[in-house]
Amino acid sequence: MSLKLLYRGPLSSCNYGCTYCPFAKHHETAAEHAADEVKLQRFLGWCESYRKPLDVFFTPWGEALTQRRYQQALARLTHLPHVGRAAVQTNLSAKLDWLDDAQPSKLGIWATFHPDWAKRQKFVAQCLELEERGISYSVGVVGFPSVLDELKALRAELPPHVYVWVNAVKDLASQYTPEVLQAFTALDPLFPLNLKAHPSLGKACAGGQTVLSIDGDGVARRCHFLREPLGNLYEPDFESKLGPRACTAATCGCHIGYVHLEYLGLQQVFGRGILERVPQREWRGRP
Ligand code: SF4
Ligand code: SF4
Repeated sequence: MSLKLLYRGPLSSCNYGCTYCPFAKHHETAAEHAADEVKLQRFLGWCESYRKPLDVFFTPWGEALTQRRYQQALARLTHLPHVGRAAVQTNLSAKLDWLDDAQPSKLGIWATFHPDWAKRQKFVAQCLELEERGISYSVGVVGFPSVLDELKALRAELPPHVYVWVNAVKDLASQYTPEVLQAFTALDPLFPLNLKAHPSLGKACAGGQTVLSIDGDGVARRCHFLREPLGNLYEPDFESKLGPRACTAATCGCHIGYVHLEYLGLQQVFGRGILERVPQREWRGRP
């Protein structure tokens, strides 16, 4: 069993400006970029020294792949023998030439298509480059009913085996019509799971045991949603803080969290693609 680290440093800028996004409204100064780089390098140094099975997932507040340092970080991680997966959430807008330096079989890309900011043709071309390079990737959208036509077109233009996910807009869930629910579910068989907040209080979750959220200072939490620190990655005894724990939140409604909630059985559904959100083939839907 590998340790999975979900790294979220201070970087919080984005080249897009989605109106619904609570993140990425910041523009880093040169000094802030430099500070982010220092923290990132410290994290990478720790990953290099760990020497046990490790998977890393970058889940930034904004867009990381427009920054050379995150491209290089992913590439560097893929060359570490004890790292099984180096994955990232991205809007996939940045050039992909950095992939030349990475070991493709270890990369995972969770790509979000934002029709208000990206041209579908360009986005699909980026996906096809991932395809050609043999990289494990998923593609998805934030599930506003208004994106449905674009989403269907995207689905049709991607290879059939590619998983296309839809993130439910929870505030709108009660307003989804049966037709919209059916359309999203036809595209993403796992959409109904995303539509609900899963009861989690007292339930076993891998968060805090084999999955950790790590911030730029190394503070380790069981997930991005429970703020209580478990310890610090950079302290020598940090592994003593790992262990089975019951969730203390009433519900867990975000894929990045509930995918580790044990009673849902999603570790089997996603297998090796769990970080980049690629399920086993039978769960990928059909165009
Ligand atoms: S692309 Fe992602 S991080 Fe950037 S503004 Fe949109 S939702 Fe936020
Ligand atoms: S169930 Fe969700 S909120 Fe609870 S520990 Fe797991 S990831 Fe965190």
